[in-house]
Amino acid sequence: MIRDQETLNVLLDTLSRFVRERLVPAENEVAETDEIPADIVAEMRDIGLFGLCVPEEYGGLGLTMEEEVLAAFEIAKTSPAFRSLIGTNNGIGSQGLIVDGTEEQKRHYLPKLASGELIASFALTEPGSGSDAASLRTSARRDGDFYVVNGTKRFITNAPEAGIFTVMARTNPDVKGAGGISAFIVEKGTPGVHIGKRDKKMGQKGAHTADVIFENCRVPAANLIGGKEGVGFKTAMKVLDKGRLHISAICVGAAERMLEDALRYAIERQQFGQPIAEFQLIQAMLADSKAEIYAARSMILDAARRRDNKEDISTEASCCKLFASEMCGRVADRAVQIHGGAGYVSEYAIERFYRDVRLFRIYEGTTQIQQLVIARNMIRNAQV
Ligand SMILES: Cc1cc2nc3c(=O)[nH]c(=O)nc-3n(C[C@H](O)[C@H](O)[C@H](O)COP(=O)(O)OP(=O)(O)OC[C@H]3O[C@@H](n4cnc5c(N)ncnc54)[C@H](O)[C@@H]3O)c2cc1C
Repeated sequence: MIRDQETLNVLLDTLSRFVRERLVPAENEVAETDEIPADIVAEMRDIGLFGLCVPEEYGGLGLTMEEEVLAAFEIAKTSPAFRSLIGTNNGIGSQGLIVDGTEEQKRHYLPKLASGELIASFALTEPGSGSDAASLRTSARRDGDFYVVNGTKRFITNAPEAGIFTVMARTNPDVKGAGGISAFIVEKGTPGVHIGKRDKKMGQKGAHTADVIFENCRVPAANLIGGKEGVGFKTAMKVLDKGRLHISAICVGAAERMLEDALRYAIERQQFGQPIAEFQLIQAMLADSKAEIYAARSMILDAARRRDNKEDISTEASCCKLFASEMCGRVADRAVQIHGGAGYVSEYAIERFYRDVRLFRIYEGTTQIQQLVIARNMIRNAQV
């Protein structure tokens, strides 16, 4: 749903210009230093990028899902690290509060997330539970007006920067699966919260992940999201449905950027006395990439509109994540191939993008988990 086309066009133009003029020129610096320059972070705050999806009453822009994916197509045309910094506040870090938080919790945290004053992370994965997230072992034991949290969370995006964490922990040790899990907001300064060393990653330099360790960490009971035990896994899954559509849109934007770079190179590069773009085997790679990007874009817009219409899009979100992330990997591979040897050295952005986009097939549910979700929903629907 697009609420006001003119207002949206202004936003999309602003994003597109910001990406082209400020972010693309800073890509190499971010890759070399593993940091996003402070002046760029400040500009991201000024433009309102941290609050794109936070509801307007809490200081954000309150984008609808359709508007959000259109914005994500633009933001993703540069290094994914920039998107990653604003991604958790707009998505997995804040959505738990937005969908299931109490009014008081929303009023307390969301305005600071929308302004970028505070960064939020989403802490579900653990050393022993990734795809099988419902088997998580972090515990939260009630003690008076507090919960005592113990456990380790792994690969947590923006953990080094975060001021708050949405943490899924088991409040009922007798219930082994999803039903024993609750969601909490844990502030970084709480005694017993430790952030591990930054992970050394294959790509996405400038975006940071780390372990988050809880040792007898006393979290006020008021920070139980929604004030209700046992529904934290459901909250996490609602967050991920939306997150999967967002990541799918990021895959499209990144693929569009890689294809633009490959097309430009193919037109400029001469072999056998002519531009390599004249060779039909190169044209096949360009055309297949274009068609697949178009397909992903179309399905994401369709799923986004359905979500805005309040339809259950669990299957569609997984279809989008599965197709768009795999598509992005194929486009990255072809774009390297079109660049030839130049695609394997870091002078051209494609070498970096090839590594950066590999993550999209892994996090927020691997490709295999998306396949399982789609098939499970198909079978369940066939049985009712
Ligand atoms: C850079 C980065 C950032 C991340 N950010 C966050 C974050 O902010 N918050 C957070 O909570 N997590 C985060 N994650 C964790 C991410 O979501 C998990 O890594 C992912 O869900 C996979 O879990 P795993 O790594 O434990 O792999 P595993 O679950 O061990 O999977 C290993 C392989 O087995 C396959 N597999 C597993 N189960 C099945 C099955 N039933 N059938 C078929 N195949 C299966 C998987 O598809 C995969 O190929 C991040 C990870 C990375 C690398």
